[in-house]
Parts: sequence; structure tokens; C-alpha cells
Amino acid sequence: MVVDLSLFKNILPSEVYDVVEITYNHNRWRRFETINLIASENVMSPLAEMLYVTDMMHRYAEGKPKKRYYQGLRYVDEIELMLMKAMGELFNVEYVEPRAISGTIANATVFKVLGGYGDKALIAPVQAGAHVSHTKFGVLGALGIEHIELPYDPEEMNIDVDKALKMIEEVKPKFVVLGGSVYLFPHPVKEIAEAAHNVDAKVVYDAAHVLGLIAGKKWRNPLKHGADIVTASTHKTFPGPQGGVILTNIKEIYKAVAKVVFPVFVSNHHLHRLPATLVTTYEMKYFGERYAEQVIKNAQAFAEALASEGFKVLGEHKGYTRSHQVVLDVADLGGGASVAQRLEDANIVVNKNLLPKDPPTAIKNPSGIRIGVQEMTRWGMKEQDFQELASLMRELIIDKHDSVEIRRKVVEFRKRFMKIHYAFEVNYDNIKVSEKLPLLW
Ligand SMILES: *Cc1c(COP(=O)(O)O)cnc(C)c1O
Repeated sequence: MVVDLSLFKNILPSEVYDVVEITYNHNRWRRFETINLIASENVMSPLAEMLYVTDMMHRYAEGKPKKRYYQGLRYVDEIELMLMKAMGELFNVEYVEPRAISGTIANATVFKVLGGYGDKALIAPVQAGAHVSHTKFGVLGALGIEHIELPYDPEEMNIDVDKALKMIEEVKPKFVVLGGSVYLFPHPVKEIAEAAHNVDAKVVYDAAHVLGLIAGKKWRNPLKHGADIVTASTHKTFPGPQGGVILTNIKEIYKAVAKVVFPVFVSNHHLHRLPATLVTTYEMKYFGERYAEQVIKNAQAFAEALASEGFKVLGEHKGYTRSHQVVLDVADLGGGASVAQRLEDANIVVNKNLLPKDPPTAIKNPSGIRIGVQEMTRWGMKEQDFQELASLMRELIIDKHDSVEIRRKVVEFRKRFMKIHYAFEVNYDNIKVSEKLPLLW
């Protein structure tokens, strides 16, 4: 750690010093001392981070590049146009709308374009991972669009394709949404898209979780398999700053999306995201395939290792996982809430999650734990490292060793992974301290 906190202590009023210290503690703990296995998170590269904390964070840019409502944006325009082009190339798509400030805003925009009050949308079943924004509790419901779940096949742990095709024909929805948040196996885009197009429905593929795997060509590009629109977050397996994006090859849809994102859901689109997202897009262009390949190898190795340590891992009959995620059933080990808390006590960070078998009312103590390997893959962990981690988790959760003892081991283990991989190398020693992120580097 480069920063000496005492420098702040002597000159700041104590409540102001507290802000510095608490933030510093967060950074140290979450970035350097914990194993982060939250499936929806990642870390940016140092270069992307450096380009994130810039003057662009202070500026406004309503409208599209070169057609803004504010002056002073010549460089922002340049970056935004480069980003649209680079993302278009990476995902092999004609139109890119980068102004949605989150995946939820991307979904809200697209749902509003495709449907209105009283229209029907068919959504991937909650058991197959649908996100809250796809449901009556989220933006879909807020727009007054009726939420109808596609049928679930427990054996395949996926959408029941035959029943779904019949449902699409009967319901004739305005659109169908695929993709999800608890997501081990790809949804059947091709079959669903054919049926949807037969009844003039559009297919939205929510790639929030898997955008980085698509960039690395290790997850089918849904646009090639019949999806009309992709929505995504730019900070899950795609390791950029928090944000959203919308991709499509259909010009009319793109135009409608651009008219809804601003002014309906976004006025300013948080401009400091743009250079960092652009650098991350280039990282995915240069290193994405190696990264995505290692992510999937790690997820599969971790699943196997956890199973052989005695954990109940979902999806054994299907090879556990084809994504960055691994899902555990910990009902017999005290349930998701207490296992997640025990893991946190030992500096291993996960989230509790409903499993397909759980009723929605089990939300406070569901049976599952959702794990993602993408961030620790960025920090350089490989298959054998995940085996070691699985055995630490067994010592903690199954053998019930003291969490303080395991935490000590976790902190030591974490010290082996201090450099972000799959990123451009820059010699930060040559950058003046005042230009660095002061609390991190
Ligand atoms: C995370 C997630 C979102 C929402 O993304 P935010 O960027 O957090 O708003 C949308 N859809 C799915 C499937 C997600 O997992």
C-alpha cells in the first residue's frame, strides 16, 4: 500500500478523516485481502481505472456525439464514437448504444421501445436465472408490460423448448427475453427466435453476465443465432466500469432506442465511463479469448473440486457449468445465508441465491450460493489455485474450522494474486504519484 494514512489524520477534521479511512479500509479489504467470487463483479485494469477518474466525470453531454445540447465536448465525442465503433467490431454488430448507464437502464430502454402498457412479454423462467428487471417487480412491471414466464425444464436446468415454442405461438407476445443472472448453461436462442419471429415478436437477449464471454468467443453470440437486440452490463464478465450497452443490427430499433435512452431514462450518461469502457473493449479484443477460455476452465475445475471436497454442486449431469458461474446447494450445511456469512468471515465473498427448487419466499435464507470465477481469473488464478480454494472452503464450511484461522490462510493465499492479467502492461513507476489513484496504487 502506498498511502500513509497518518498524512491525512493530522490535517483533517476527524469526521472527514473517517471518510478517508473507511474508504481506504474498503479498498484494502475488498481489493487485496478477499477472494471475490461475486458473479456479477469484476475489476478494471489499472489503465482503465486511470482513465476512469478523469475530468470527464464532471461534464454533461446530453444527446448524441456531435449533436449535443452542451458545448465543450470535442474529446468526449471522439471517445464515444471510437467506443461505438470498437464495440461494433468486437461483437460483430452494426449499431451500438453505449449511453445506458446500467444493464437495468438498457433493459428499460429496450422494453419501452418494444412494448407498452398492457402488452405481453415472455421471459426466461426465474429458475433459469431471469433478472428482476425482467419481471413485474422491476422495469418490465413499471412499464405496465405483462410478465409471462416461459416453462422450465428441471432436468436440463433450462427453458423447456417444446413447451416454450407452443407458448410463443399461443400468447403471441410483443417480445421474448432470454439471458439471466444465475446462468450455468446457454438459453436456446435459435429455436426461440424462430418461433418468435413467426408471430412477429422480437427477441431480446440480456447478456449482462456473459458479455465478456461473448467478447472472448466462448459463449455463442446471440445476434448470430437470431436475437434482435442484446442488452448488457459492462462490468460483469466484461471487466469494464459499471455501465450498460445495447447492441442491434436493426436500424429502426437502434433509432428508436437512441430516442428513448435519452431523454427518457438518461439525461447525462456518466462520461467518465466512456474511455475506461473503450480501453476494456480493446483489452477484450487483444486478450479476450485467452481470458474467456481461462474463466470457463476455472469454473469447471472449481465445480469439480468443490464436488470432490464434499459440496453439493448443481448440474453434475451436464458437466456443472459452461459459464463463469458455479452454483452450490448448501441447504444441508445451514442454508445460503449462514454459509455466505461464514465465508465472508473468512474473507471469501459470495452471495446467497435462490435455487430452482426454492419457493420465492425463501429469499432471506435460500438454499444456494452463487459463485463466479471471472474476477479471480483476472487476478491470475488457474485451475489448481481453485482446487486449493475449494479445500479451504471445505475446511471452513464442512469441517467447521475456526473462521479466523481460515481467514489468515485466505489472506496469505490472496497475496499470490496481486496483478491483473489479460490487460495492457504499463510501467506505473514512471507515472507521477499525483496522477495515480491515490488510495489504490
Ligand atoms: C446484473 C443484471 C442486470 C442489471 O444490470 P445492472 O448493470 O446492475 O443494472 C440485468 N440483467 C441481468 C441478467 C443481470 O444479471
